[in-house]
Amino acid sequence: MKKHNFSAGPCILPQEVFEKASAAIMDFNNTGLSILEISHRSEAFVSVIEEARALVLELLGLQDKGYQALFLHGGASMQFLMVAYNLLEKKAAYTNTGTWSSKAIKEAKLFGEVVEVASSKDKNFNYIPKDYIIPTDTDYFHCTSNNTIYGTQMKSFPKTQVPLVCDMSSDILSRTLDFSQFDLIYAGAQKNMGPAGVTLVVVKEEILGKVARQIPSMMNYQVHIEKDSMFNTPSVFAVYTSLLNLQWLKKLGGIAGIEDKNTKKAALLYDEIDRNPLFKGFAEKEDRSIMNPTFNLAEGADKTTFDKLWKEANINGINGHRSVGGYRASMYNAMPIESVQVLVDVMQHFEKIS
Ligand SMILES: *Cc1c(COP(=O)(O)O)cnc(C)c1O
Repeated sequence: MKKHNFSAGPCILPQEVFEKASAAIMDFNNTGLSILEISHRSEAFVSVIEEARALVLELLGLQDKGYQALFLHGGASMQFLMVAYNLLEKKAAYTNTGTWSSKAIKEAKLFGEVVEVASSKDKNFNYIPKDYIIPTDTDYFHCTSNNTIYGTQMKSFPKTQVPLVCDMSSDILSRTLDFSQFDLIYAGAQKNMGPAGVTLVVVKEEILGKVARQIPSMMNYQVHIEKDSMFNTPSVFAVYTSLLNLQWLKKLGGIAGIEDKNTKKAALLYDEIDRNPLFKGFAEKEDRSIMNPTFNLAEGADKTTFDKLWKEANINGINGHRSVGGYRASMYNAMPIESVQVLVDVMQHFEKIS
């Protein structure tokens, strides 16, 4: 029986995407070949990656604005260093809002000076720092839009003269934003865009080519752009599955359509966390993520009973990250509100029998 999958990543994808991807493993678009064996240079696959690159820009509202979309290897973790390799000449500004930002900062320091302009480490990253100054002599400013582990999310982004770089791994394509305020966006696909094995990079071309250092080809955004995101063999199956998911999203009304659903799902769960005396939220209310609500049991609430109840209800993946503990219910785009209702029902039942 299919589980209600609240896993933080790899994530739930729409059932129709699973079905179409499975069919393509046996016969990809009547080519007589499996998507797993087809040449990445074949016309059939070139049109897949071209459509995926165009559709990403369309959904983000960034067509014809000087941006390129790339599907690369190496995960968001590779982008931690690739961003710095390509953009950091002397000095860059970073906010530290959790594990992933800390890792991005660590890699950037290999390439130049990093100014940590703000941090929420003092409260175990349960909030988003607000008032900070980004020095204008920095090469770029880097932030993490959604802190997957802590369940905090930036609701707005600072206005700055320097290029704005954002790790959107866990909330890409989940909410409407003016994406043209960003100069570079990256996201490991497996949180909200597709399966593991491919990473999306959306970059404004004009910010590239400004550092003096030599950049190895595989690390060089300009090389990947010049080769239409096919410098080497892309993750064929992961790109195809991402395309299916992008098509599904477009059918639902794009980002605006899904944002409405995501907001309702988040409200349903947060209302219960706030109402139910057996639970308390982890993140500061104004910074709560609509993707990864985090919560704990109130003092005295019986963990063994609650864990038994949600497992019996066929729920998967709500244990919190080891650095935060408690619970985290990741509710990515493909999660139906009915699954959130199942979790809320379990929380209410737990209250009744406690
Ligand atoms: C998961 C995650 C990463 C790391 O992604 P990989 O693709 O595993 O390298 C980076 N940033 C954020 C915000 C994440 O949620």
